[in-house]
Amino acid sequence: MADCIFCKIAAKDVPAPIVYENADVVAFKDLNPRAPLHVLVIPRRHVERLSELDDEALAGKLTLAAAKVAKDAGHGDNFRLVVNNGAGAGQSVFHVHFHVLGGRLFSWPPG
Ligand code: AMP
Repeated sequence: MADCIFCKIAAKDVPAPIVYENADVVAFKDLNPRAPLHVLVIPRRHVERLSELDDEALAGKLTLAAAKVAKDAGHGDNFRLVVNNGAGAGQSVFHVHFHVLGGRLFSWPPG
């Protein structure tokens, strides 16, 4: 989508520190990290939010890529996966993304 910053990152029109990519997904470091490891995993294809993602295979690929990113960063045993779905849940970029967070303790429930 023309105006989507994450589409531009996926297309490499906007630079970002990409840590993993394959034919379907791209993972890059968050601009404003909330943990020592904070990577965003996105589908190359523009989908606004998780509740609009209807491709089970792609959902699986996003999940497995997130686990791989955590493992490759040395946090495979302790990491948190977060999806903010909708503005009311804290979503600010409307291209679905999984936050992969690791390297510190996390409280529960999340705020
Ligand atoms: P959310 O609030 O769940 O939609 O998360 C959006 C995330 O995208 C935030 O953690 C931002 O710091 C991050 N972000 C926004 N723009 C960029 C960018 N150009 N490169 C990397 N991360 C970004």
